[in-house]
Amino acid sequence: MLAAEPRGLRRGSPAPARLTVLSGPSAVGKSTVAARLRDECPWIWQSVSVTTRPPRPGELDGREYFFVSDQEFEKMAARGELLESARFAGNRYGTPRAPVQERLEQGKPALLEIDVAGARQVRAAVPGALLIFMAPPSWEELERRLSGRNTESAEAMDARLAAARTELAASDEFDITLVNTSVKDVCDQLVALMLAQYGNAGQDLAQQGILCNPDPEGTRWQRLRP
Ligand code: 5GP
Repeated sequence: MLAAEPRGLRRGSPAPARLTVLSGPSAVGKSTVAARLRDECPWIWQSVSVTTRPPRPGELDGREYFFVSDQEFEKMAARGELLESARFAGNRYGTPRAPVQERLEQGKPALLEIDVAGARQVRAAVPGALLIFMAPPSWEELERRLSGRNTESAEAMDARLAAARTELAASDEFDITLVNTSVKDVCDQLVALMLAQYGNAGQDLAQQGILCNPDPEGTRWQRLRP
């Protein structure tokens, strides 16, 4: 069977605004970065994925994920409603296409937090997407984070460790690698990269309080208006 042709946001034309993808191994800290950005920089719209994985304690349907059954996931995939999708450690994950398309058509920044297989599909489907790889400071640190999670079975943990090993090797495929030395540093760097996409217009938007603004040393980003 021929592989299905990847469907972009708009075939034949570049994405109207740049899509940013934050990827990297499971447990590297991507979701912590995403949560901090939700609080600190609400101007960065974040896609909410669908997943067949059950919710972890504290996760809310519609905030971290839309939690769906295998059948619902299959239907969405079959109807072409997913921009990308992947199977990870026995569960399925996917990015709903329509909300991403809507944001980009409005010229507003959009961020996906997805695994490496999904990032590859976005690269093929969305010309000009900025692919950012988040790397752990060391393999030992990643192992520590994965095993410290305590939310998965031993089998699921082994699957995640195996996936992490493969995913780490993929960093060369990305435009930029950010090492997770601290959540704050990664957030600052990510915001700077997204703001840079706007060029000079970024400063105007920042002055209107729509975007975050750097402090005088350029090391911290603050929201100008609540
Ligand atoms: P977790 O189960 O720990 O929330 O996520 C497992 C992995 O799936 C993480 O690497 C996360 O980034 C990734 N992931 C989350 N949502 C999506 C998605 O919509 N598509 C893809 N390809 N990966 C996703």
